Amino acid sequence: MPGFELFGEEERKEVNDVLETGILMRYGFDGPRKGIWKAKELEKALCERLGCAYAQLTSSGTTALTTAMAALGIGAGDEVIMPSFTFVASVEAVLSVGAIPVIADVDDTLTLKPESVRAAITPRTKCVMPVHMCGSMADVDALLKICKEHHLVLLEDACQSTGATYKGKALGTIGDAGTLSFDFVKTVTCGEGGAILTNSERTYEKCDHFSDHGHDHKGVDRGADEHPFLGYNFRISELHAAVGLAQLRKLDQFLALQRGHQQALKAILSQVPEITWRTVPDPAGDSGTFLSWFLPTQEITEAVVEGFKAKGILAGNFYWFNNNWHYIRKWHHLKEGHSLYALNEPQLQALEVIRQQDFSVSDTVMSRCISTAIQLGWTSEQIEAKGRAMVEVIQSVLSKHGAAAV
Ligand SMILES: *Cc1c(COP(=O)(O)O)cnc(C)c1O
Repeated sequence: MPGFELFGEEERKEVNDVLETGILMRYGFDGPRKGIWKAKELEKALCERLGCAYAQLTSSGTTALTTAMAALGIGAGDEVIMPSFTFVASVEAVLSVGAIPVIADVDDTLTLKPESVRAAITPRTKCVMPVHMCGSMADVDALLKICKEHHLVLLEDACQSTGATYKGKALGTIGDAGTLSFDFVKTVTCGEGGAILTNSERTYEKCDHFSDHGHDHKGVDRGADEHPFLGYNFRISELHAAVGLAQLRKLDQFLALQRGHQQALKAILSQVPEITWRTVPDPAGDSGTFLSWFLPTQEITEAVVEGFKAKGILAGNFYWFNNNWHYIRKWHHLKEGHSLYALNEPQLQALEVIRQQDFSVSDTVMSRCISTAIQLGWTSEQIEAKGRAMVEVIQSVLSKHGAAAV
């Protein structure tokens, strides 16, 4: 799953280019930087590799989401429909611009269930934000159709799915804008970093300015820049961008390894007929960072998780249903509005709605799901051993639970 597994000479070389000049900032210092522009180079490389017109780097995936929302004009009073299964950062970003999170259910794609999105639309809805979790994708066509019908903005959170595609298009490049994360555990890492992808020049320009205090970047004298609107400092540093540049060049290698290992593990687990698989709207586009699978019931899944723990093979097998960060069930701090600063009234009301909301549709999916993280460095022997150990536990649990009758 994470690019940090294959960190080496290439990353060191790019970082050293920056250290040679000592210009760690992405803007200005045109003379002393001696033609080294790692952030600009990475933005260009992202556009070329992923097939979009514009990319704006930021300090993180979270700030990429905040920047994208600002650029798309999402703010106070606007509702953003997002899934119950995501990283809590997606919700934090919505709150950060004063907007209102509305949580819809996921289906067995582990992403937004289109009917649940439809049901959540109100006159205040401004944006639909699918989150392409665990290397695979939402049903993008169905969501685009809904957005078109209701004149809504589509913002893709593709932070976990760099390099994954839907019908040949890179995730993050299909909606009005999309975001990537390059934090330390993502497919491509900068250490910390993120990007907004878009095909709209206007949206890109806004992202460029907003992520740097509203600077218009029109001249060569930073002090003389105009500020057409307010912004923040969400800039990436040259050092981080340098790492990302080396990593992005390895993306195809990462994808080939991930996909190969994912399929090898799937072939082993396929011996268990009771296992079913995550629905992937475009299987060829799955980046292979995870293999996500379902067991027949919550009870069996919990017993398998316990079995994995007992056998020391739980690491890398994620039971999101019990996870504090990725699933709505345990986001008590969010539901109870534990914020250091005052949230606005519609936000507080929305959080109360979420606190009382029935997520049984999502629960039915998530309580039976385990995602196995795919590592780049696995050997075929390791995959074989891991798969066999997993199958043993699963079969022993199934026989105890009389699963044949399920
Ligand atoms: C990682 C992640 C983010 C945030 O990215 P950071 O770079 O860690 O800020 C947002 N959304 C999802 C789905 C993520 O997995």
